[in-house]
Amino acid sequence: MAPKNPKPSKYGFNTLAVHAGGAPDPATGARNVPIYQNASYVFEDVDHAASLFNLQTFGYIYSRLSNPTVAALEERLAALEGGRGATCTSTGHAAQLVALFPLMNPGAHIVAGNKLYGGSVTQFSRTITKFGWEATFAEATDPASFKAAIRPETKAIFVECLANPGGVVVDIEKVAEIADEAGIPLIVDNTMATPYLCRPIEWGATLVVNSLTKFLTGNGTSMGGVVTDSGDFDWGRNDKFPSLSKPEPAYHGLTFWETFGDLAFTMHSHAIGLRDLGTTLAPMNAFLTLSGLETLSLRMEKHCRNAMEVASWLQSHPQVAWVSYAGLDDSPYRLLAEKYLPNGAGSVFTFGVKGGFDQGVKVVESCEIVSHLANIGDTHSLILHPASTTHRQLTEEQLVAAGAGPDVIRLSIGLEDAKDIIDDLDQALNRSAIQAA
Ligand SMILES: *Cc1c(COP(=O)(O)O)cnc(C)c1O
Repeated sequence: MAPKNPKPSKYGFNTLAVHAGGAPDPATGARNVPIYQNASYVFEDVDHAASLFNLQTFGYIYSRLSNPTVAALEERLAALEGGRGATCTSTGHAAQLVALFPLMNPGAHIVAGNKLYGGSVTQFSRTITKFGWEATFAEATDPASFKAAIRPETKAIFVECLANPGGVVVDIEKVAEIADEAGIPLIVDNTMATPYLCRPIEWGATLVVNSLTKFLTGNGTSMGGVVTDSGDFDWGRNDKFPSLSKPEPAYHGLTFWETFGDLAFTMHSHAIGLRDLGTTLAPMNAFLTLSGLETLSLRMEKHCRNAMEVASWLQSHPQVAWVSYAGLDDSPYRLLAEKYLPNGAGSVFTFGVKGGFDQGVKVVESCEIVSHLANIGDTHSLILHPASTTHRQLTEEQLVAAGAGPDVIRLSIGLEDAKDIIDDLDQALNRSAIQAA
């Protein structure tokens, strides 16, 4: 099935992952992107300073707004997602705020899928209400429920394509059509899939957010986030987005859409979003993510192979009630996974233990190689019992809706030998069963 909005590139994915944004350093010839670990930049003269502040000349003023190491990473990430521009942020959660910021105003509303990272459920159901923003959660597996939740003041739809934690695959082409009919952008959190497995912009997404903390950096060394803009949305098609389509009082009346066209969103996110929210990515972290990205496809292929092996093995374990992995033949999401995730169904999935909450706690505490912690997308295999950790602030109803019921265990399969991951899970499951008996 061909994507409706293909983004062909002169170079293949792996070449972009190594080269995009990474020309040899003009000052020294350094082959890798240097770490520009500095806060500010000398102006040539007053006119130069004025043209920088007026956004008439490209250049650097202060690293809260932009920095050469971070800019190299932004160019690489935009290339990998097939987007026009990208804005890096201090964390994935910051990227979600920076993505919404140009679109929203007090009283504005978003429709979000209900299969989301636990922190995103809390951010949308609680924290954003302090800005006067509001979210309605639609059934992620039912595109029609997004349409039903849209109101006149709705400014965006937000989903994860490969949704956390249960490996649910959302039909993003259908949801993108619903967003388009309503004249609003679709925002896709692509953290679990990465652009190697899924390219949401090609299926009609306007904005893609990613936590760099996970697979993109790939080794659990840095926090970071990014918002990538497709450049395809006409911000002037209705009057819903005055920060982009009308004179912006926060930037002496500049009209971003008229001035910057397909770069309007990215320019606004740097000139106002990062300037005033201050959620800037550190240059050292950008350097670590640039290095990590160079091996993204190799890592994702191995993550997916290992995950498939572990998931298939778990299906026949006597202590396991069910396994939810979109790569398995009997998964209800297999067809959607073949369409949107042709290179593999990722490495994060859930399974249920027969003994419920108590056995779930015992399994995570009995693992030796597989680490019990709240992260995904690491070289190390990770295990978590969402109901007692990441999702514990959710109500019972939200827990079940989010696919994080009391018996659910989440795995993020790393890059170890699959046999060692399996042996460790086997001893943990068997020990937890004996203890439970
Ligand atoms: C981790 C994660 C986030 C948040 O990213 P941080 O870098 O931890 O702020 C958002 N969405 C998904 C799917 C995640 O896994």
